Amino acid sequence: MRNQKTLAHPTSLSGIGLHSGQAATITIHPAPADTGVVFYQKTTNTVHSCPAFIKHLRPMDLCTTIGLNGFQIQTVEHVLSALAGLEIDNAYLELDGNEVPAVDGSAAPFVNLIQTVGAVEQDQPRTYLKIVQPLSVGNDSRSLAVYPSALPKISYSIDYPHPLIQNQTYIHDCSIKEFEQNIAGARTFAFRHEVELLWSRGLGMGGSLENTLVLSETGLMNENGFRFHDECVRHKVLDLIGDLSLLGIPVIGHFVAHRAGHSVHAQMVKAILENPEAWILLNSSDEDRSMMVHAGSPFPKPMSEVPQPAYLY
Ligand SMILES: [Zn+2]
Repeated sequence: MRNQKTLAHPTSLSGIGLHSGQAATITIHPAPADTGVVFYQKTTNTVHSCPAFIKHLRPMDLCTTIGLNGFQIQTVEHVLSALAGLEIDNAYLELDGNEVPAVDGSAAPFVNLIQTVGAVEQDQPRTYLKIVQPLSVGNDSRSLAVYPSALPKISYSIDYPHPLIQNQTYIHDCSIKEFEQNIAGARTFAFRHEVELLWSRGLGMGGSLENTLVLSETGLMNENGFRFHDECVRHKVLDLIGDLSLLGIPVIGHFVAHRAGHSVHAQMVKAILENPEAWILLNSSDEDRSMMVHAGSPFPKPMSEVPQPAYLY
């Protein structure tokens, strides 16, 4: 239990969007307590903004896309995973395009970027959503459940009929150190036949061996191989952390995923919101630092309640 955090200073990186192939620069700015994570884009006359909340999710099966009032941002999951993995609660993400740069296909470039400026603790306590009853979504072949647990935890398993993957399981304890060392560096992966299909549909235009692990029928096309022997399942954990952050509040519970993906991850966020009997909100009281049940719901937060600093305009 601790206070909310934001970045100490703004910081930027540039690159190519995985699906659009368009160059873009993302700048991560500090934001006041209780802002959450808000994407925005400045044009000559106006500022478009979109909070990273599930209600702004757009239907896309290949990447996580959010949008509001005509402003749409693709492939938000890896930068959101970096923020959630480092327990950064509040940030403005300024983008000059419509897709977050893929960089190397993992969350490591965003983690390194945030670490170069550092994080600062703010004066408001962090609120947690604690699961008290199990919830599950998906079906027998693709599932995601969450169970009550004293500490946050993710157990993810995948199963692909490929000699370099087959069955992989990873258990993540959701600490910052474990995220930095074992999850952040895991890259996006795809099968060659899928990549060829995407290209034929005009998608995945920024995809290359620089930002995607591409599996051929029996091997891996990337010359330098995997960063971790189980890099694929670790990347699924990375994606789940980013997608769950669309709840806008950290969860204390044990997530158990089997062959899930972005759409199943999003179903879980919706299931949590739709089942308030399955959780309680906790924060550390300023007086005695003890666990308190927090009154009132922090979501869905209307835009009018999201602080908008003057420097955006
Ligand atoms: Zn991903």
